[in-house]
Amino acid sequence: MLEVRGLTAGYGRVRVVWDVDLTVGEREIVALIGPNGAGKTTLLRALSGVLPAASGTAMLADRPLTGRSIEDIAGLGVAHVPEGRRLFPGLTVRQNLLLGAWRHRTAEIDRVLELFPQLAPRLNQLAGSLSGGEQQMCAIARGLMSRPRLMMIDELSLGLAPIIVDEIVMRLPSIAAGGTAVLLVEQDVDTALSLASRAYVLETGRIVLQGPAADLLADSRVQESYLGIP
Ligand code: ATP
Repeated sequence: MLEVRGLTAGYGRVRVVWDVDLTVGEREIVALIGPNGAGKTTLLRALSGVLPAASGTAMLADRPLTGRSIEDIAGLGVAHVPEGRRLFPGLTVRQNLLLGAWRHRTAEIDRVLELFPQLAPRLNQLAGSLSGGEQQMCAIARGLMSRPRLMMIDELSLGLAPIIVDEIVMRLPSIAAGGTAVLLVEQDVDTALSLASRAYVLETGRIVLQGPAADLLADSRVQESYLGIP
């Protein structure tokens, strides 16, 4: 469904990701892993239109994303949950959720609360007063309000306790099964590979390994570099 071909992107004249080929199927969870500074965030930004692609193409369900505005790309069904959540701290949870919605606003709130029932008693609370885990739930829930075909989540686990991460990632299979495929950038490689069907490893801006997540979990290079297994 998402088809990225030869994508190169960066900042000004500085290229950060080179010649990336990547696909995400309908209702699939795909992980993108790699060391700090490899270009994972940059790749997501190029896909959601925050950055222009220098070359290459990205298509979602046969429609081009490259060359379009952030709004158009969101309208085509791409939601981006950025690193650090980026909620509006001075607005309530309900207001943050509504900012993600385009239609059926109340019905969509009910739908996302089924996935994250912890948010229900907090709808009228300021988002800035939520715990880190609740903020991440709110950021993902906000992304789901527009019923995207693809949700890109950057560093889901950042700053969260493992038990909270487990609670959130446990929801991702239902999200994917509900029609929103997930492209997950994650430092916690064990969690990412346990959850995803396939994964890509990005190092210094290039995809160096890819395959079924189970194969990558068993790959000695992944084990040494990312799982601390000698
Ligand atoms: P991390 O997990 O640390 O966020 P990452 O794989 O997501 O790493 P990026 O954030 O995409 O990596 O960064 C890739 C490279 O792009 C880094 O060398 C970084 O310094 C550079 N970079 C990131 N943002 C900018 C920017 N706004 N302007 C110029 N260079 C940038």
